[in-house]
Amino acid sequence: MSGTNHRDLRIICCVKVVPRPEEVSVDQDTMTIDRANARSIINPPDMNLLEMALQLKDQHGGEVILLSMGPPLFDEYLRVGLSLGADSAYLLSDRAFGGADTLATSYTLAQGIRRIRDERGCDLVLCGEESSDGATAQVPPGIAEWLDMPQVTYAGELSLVDGHLHAVREVKGGHEVLKAPLPAVVSVRVGVNEPRFIDFERKAWAENEAPVTVWAADDLDLDTEAIGLTGSPTSVSGLGQARSVERRREVIEGTPEEEARALFEQLQTFLRVRA
Ligand SMILES: Cc1cc2nc3c(=O)[nH]c(=O)nc-3n(C[C@H](O)[C@H](O)[C@H](O)COP(=O)(O)OP(=O)(O)OC[C@H]3O[C@@H](n4cnc5c(N)ncnc54)[C@H](O)[C@@H]3O)c2cc1C
Repeated sequence: MSGTNHRDLRIICCVKVVPRPEEVSVDQDTMTIDRANARSIINPPDMNLLEMALQLKDQHGGEVILLSMGPPLFDEYLRVGLSLGADSAYLLSDRAFGGADTLATSYTLAQGIRRIRDERGCDLVLCGEESSDGATAQVPPGIAEWLDMPQVTYAGELSLVDGHLHAVREVKGGHEVLKAPLPAVVSVRVGVNEPRFIDFERKAWAENEAPVTVWAADDLDLDTEAIGLTGSPTSVSGLGQARSVERRREVIEGTPEEEARALFEQLQTFLRVRA
């Protein structure tokens, strides 16, 4: 690849489906999240990575390929991604993948990416910053390690220059620009863009005709000891409820000058207490 001509650009977007946070409950006996009684959504940070991928495709052409690991019901959410602008989707789904921690999850996704790369090519793997349910942020670096690809985490901007990836990420007091050869794995910072709306012209195609390929364990070149519960060295040993912080609300009244002064004094006190 050279210049800005990336006609064959293949971007694999790792998209997770998560339960709506407000509907999640925890089973105190099994120490697992009860997802069965919660409605699902595409992991919100993954909408940002998808928007980033679609913007790169708008600029350079190429293909946006969705990849997810989860139960068959994820199919309908991948179709939402297809109606937003993705070209095809893969779902890794098998009971053998169940109970996977982040190590086994990143391994399974990496093996899926390997197969897509072998069959269709892969220049970039995009992940979200973290999931809204597991929230470890370990899967993107895990994928990069399994695939031995360069990785950039928490990227805010991405561009492709002379066959290299330029990624900007904010650091305390400024930002840094990282340059990496392709293919690379990037986790995209949450909230960096405004995800686009569904393209209604694509909707019927996405819902009925678009290719969503389902791969089971036998379809991938896998070490069966490294997947699912067997391949998961971590376990949840305890669960606690976070103490909710008491909130105080006060209406400040008076003239605009009086209100501003009262607010200023309150903020001053607040900042002094925290200093
Ligand atoms: C012992 C143990 C058992 C578990 N058992 C189960 C179980 O049975 N069922 C279950 O659903 N979860 C289970 N989990 C949770 C599971 O490990 C995580 O959901 C998964 O590994 C992703 O980690 P995370 O949510 O922290 O993702 P993060 O690392 O925070 O996610 C970052 C990004 O990685 C990508 N990503 C993460 N997961 C996926 C995915 N599945 N598909 C595509 N992209 C993805 C997304 O782009 C996401 O934005 C278990 C966890 C442990 C520790």
